[in-house]
Amino acid sequence: MSPVAVYVHAPFCPSKCGYCDFNSYAMSGQIVDDTVAATIKEIRSSPWGGRPAKTIFFGGGTPTFLSADHLHSILDAVISTHPPIEGCEISSEANPGTVDASKFKSMRQSGFNRISLGAQSFVPEELARLGRVHGPTEIGRAVLAARDAGFTNVNIDLMFALPGQSLRVWEQNLEAALSLNTDHLSLYCLTIEPNTRFYKLNLKGMLDLPDDEQQVSMYEMACAMTAAAGLDQYEISNFAKPSMQSQHNLCYWRCEEYLGYGPGAVGRVGDTRYTNLKHPSRYESAVSSGEKLWCEEERLDETTLRLERIMLGIRLQEGLGTGCLDLDSIHGLEAKGWVERRTDRIRLTPEGRHFCSEVALALA
Ligand code: SF4
Repeated sequence: MSPVAVYVHAPFCPSKCGYCDFNSYAMSGQIVDDTVAATIKEIRSSPWGGRPAKTIFFGGGTPTFLSADHLHSILDAVISTHPPIEGCEISSEANPGTVDASKFKSMRQSGFNRISLGAQSFVPEELARLGRVHGPTEIGRAVLAARDAGFTNVNIDLMFALPGQSLRVWEQNLEAALSLNTDHLSLYCLTIEPNTRFYKLNLKGMLDLPDDEQQVSMYEMACAMTAAAGLDQYEISNFAKPSMQSQHNLCYWRCEEYLGYGPGAVGRVGDTRYTNLKHPSRYESAVSSGEKLWCEEERLDETTLRLERIMLGIRLQEGLGTGCLDLDSIHGLEAKGWVERRTDRIRLTPEGRHFCSEVALALA
């Protein structure tokens, strides 16, 4: 059986951030225990049991909102169901406000070997406006605690183009993140999603968002500062020290198969993409009664899979093989200065990174 990426969704958070449209719930108590038990049951009765894990990733929500015992029990179920291959990356997202030295030590002992910290900003006013439960000092403390616990692979997530953010403040955020000398940085532009508090505020004109030109300047500043710090931009929004790329996310960008467990988790096996029931109570009761867990199921035809391979693969610095691409389209994009060719592959140029969707559509 071929190795596969394994994702576990932990849907709980201490509170709901203003910009968040993830499948996350500010819930605690019995529902958390019941959902953890259901997730373990789902994993242990997986139809794909026995397939080795190529990577394991706990995301959310806030996985570290769960207790160390909960995290250990779920990871134990994953490891017994999907024996990890040699050197398997085992990551967990972590909110700096929900971790301490003892939790990181327990997680390390359980087998986690990578931590992805959702920092988002180092400015107290920005963090408060986003609705984050942590302050800037907790970010540095969390990195140190992770290092002390033995994590040699640590990522920080930051967001830019936040309400009211100037280029200078973004630069300070980048400086603060780089000073922590983590192995990986993920830098995402804030997007305003429907069904969020920020969406309503934006409709009322109350967000004061940086315009497109400012967003481009912020992105270019991020590319320049990370490069100067020795981080390699291996994906449009992701930067890593040598050999510290996120192996799990590479599986997504390379359009490989992945399994998803937990409420709202998405998986793709062969030509089928599925989404589990999203609400923890619905999910838990379906697991208990043995009902079908999927609330969405999609058959992906070859045209859709090809489009996804192009849209995801072009984001990577390694780019796409030219074998199955139309040469005229490639010439047109080269003429615009958006892609460059390296033997039998093409990749985005720095300018082309601003036109990723247009490039993908032209190649599809
Ligand atoms: S911590 Fe993450 S998942 Fe939870 S509410 Fe905030 S943005 Fe959403």
